[in-house]
Amino acid sequence: MIRFKPFTEKYDAVVKSYLPEWKLQVMGTAMMGTDLGKCRYHDKKIWVRHTLRSEKEHVRTVAHEIAHGLNSGHGHDNVWMKSFFTIAKELA
Ligand SMILES: [Zn+2]
Repeated sequence: MIRFKPFTEKYDAVVKSYLPEWKLQVMGTAMMGTDLGKCRYHDKKIWVRHTLRSEKEHVRTVAHEIAHGLNSGHGHDNVWMKSFFTIAKELA
């Protein structure tokens, strides 16, 4: 886990505001592959790739993964999409 990212604490708080028992972790390429974010239901973690730089990239990625966390089993369907747009709008 990489702890020095400036956005980590801010977006960990955002994750907890939607998913109180969850945690945000910034991960390196070895764990992320080509993904910008991952939603890990089994250990209640949202992983974001260490190469995320801008506020916009963080909002988009974190909102995407929170929407997965809130809507297990929905993939990228309309239920997921509604959550994603709501969260992204709230964070913008
Ligand atoms: Zn997704």
